[in-house]
Amino acid sequence: MPPVTTTIARLADQAALAARALVEYGQHLLQPTVRLGITGLSRAGKTVFITALVHGLLRGGRFPLFGAYADGRIANVRLAPQPDDNVPRFDYENHIRALVDERRWPDSTRQISELRVIIDYQSGSGAERTLTLDIVDYPGEWLLDLPLLGMSYERWSAESVRRSRETPRAALAANWHRDLAATDPMAPTDENRAIASAKLFTEYLRACRDDRFAMSVLPPGRFLMPGDLEGSPALTFAPLELPEDAVRPPDSHWAMMARRYEAYKDYVVKPFFVEHFQRLDRQIVLVDALAAFNAGHHAVRDLQAALTDILDCFQIGRRTLLSTLFRPRADRVLFAATKADHLHHSNHDRLEAILQTMVQGATERAKFSGAQIDVIALAAVRATQEAMVGQGVESLPSILGRAAAGETSGGRVFDGETDVVVFPGDLPTDPGAIFENRAAAGNTDAALRFLRFRPPALEKTDAGGAALPHIRFDRALQFIIGDRLQ
Ligand code: GDP
Repeated sequence: MPPVTTTIARLADQAALAARALVEYGQHLLQPTVRLGITGLSRAGKTVFITALVHGLLRGGRFPLFGAYADGRIANVRLAPQPDDNVPRFDYENHIRALVDERRWPDSTRQISELRVIIDYQSGSGAERTLTLDIVDYPGEWLLDLPLLGMSYERWSAESVRRSRETPRAALAANWHRDLAATDPMAPTDENRAIASAKLFTEYLRACRDDRFAMSVLPPGRFLMPGDLEGSPALTFAPLELPEDAVRPPDSHWAMMARRYEAYKDYVVKPFFVEHFQRLDRQIVLVDALAAFNAGHHAVRDLQAALTDILDCFQIGRRTLLSTLFRPRADRVLFAATKADHLHHSNHDRLEAILQTMVQGATERAKFSGAQIDVIALAAVRATQEAMVGQGVESLPSILGRAAAGETSGGRVFDGETDVVVFPGDLPTDPGAIFENRAAAGNTDAALRFLRFRPPALEKTDAGGAALPHIRFDRALQFIIGDRLQ
């Protein structure tokens, strides 16, 4: 994506960026730091993941695969004031209270936030060391805006309109399509029309995001996740259906929409790239693959397109010497399929294999750029246990958990205090099947059966503490920071 780098390089204050990179490098030598980005689309599990991560580091957990922890080399962990004054703090205390004391899921990520964790540890050779871990939580929707940096308004319009005519999007775009057909791009600027079109376009995006369709590629990200831009005029533009090879008349509706699109890139997308994304050393991308499976193969393909776009973001600027200054630093990227506790363990490897297949092409390209990529199916918090349930002569690998209040199954509404056993269904053994709607061949209905469970009670650890149960969380920790605690 070379145009992105070129645009950034042209417009950003190059000297200031270089100076900041030097200062950060100097600070890093004095105080080794890992800036860890946690992202994923809305409801992917970011808040739960970070809360469990910090709780595990502060209070301990069952982490046999997290080397420094398992070897007993982590001496002390504490929270410290975060370094960036213009970013809200991740509300760890409230989130952990909700999760552990009230056994309810914490409020989800709505915008960027940050938390600093200081880890005192003993290196493999016995030296006393300290690692500063800056955790940055941000909506994946914002990350999916980065491809816009290399895209003109005209191209973005054409792609958005084309995508909106595909299944299942077309049915959801009907109102916006009517508005599109009635809008003359060559007509004089019309503010009220712009506001109305932006509203209809946003409603279409929101409908695509609904669980029934679970679409992932829905830029511009701030339309769905506005953060501090809620209600801002920066969001009053929409794609137009433009005649091919026409010239954009000045003072036209087209010209105004294009100007606002460019302003969105300059004032929203670029600052995010420069201030946040580019400074990350490591990145975890959380993926609610199960939600996509449930919505069907269109959602799965859309998710795959989103993951490819995300991986391409890490390629920006890795191709030319000049652009090294502007390239993202992240040298490890972990894709994690969350909520694996909704499946019996016999399906965890299958979930991992499907995610692996989804990112395969993009992963090969990323390897050339030097970033290490891993893929894991995990549950940051395991809300279920396993059970085998007899059905006739068959025994079904099932899960057992406390159904969240308001969840329904077979006409029954749960009160939040009832334990339920569910056979969630099986993922296909052939990962390719999930892309072609052959996934549910063995099931009686098309979808896997998911129920939202309440968070679990803490479990006793071998060291006498109390920890949140999880699935493969320690493997994720080892990949993402294990080498920095050697
Ligand atoms: P965010 O929007 O990415 O911050 O998503 P959250 O972390 O708030 O997670 C959204 C919802 O997914 C939660 O309210 C839970 O219902 C569910 N969830 C997230 N992580 C887990 C997990 O590890 N296990 C289970 N069972 N549910 C989870």
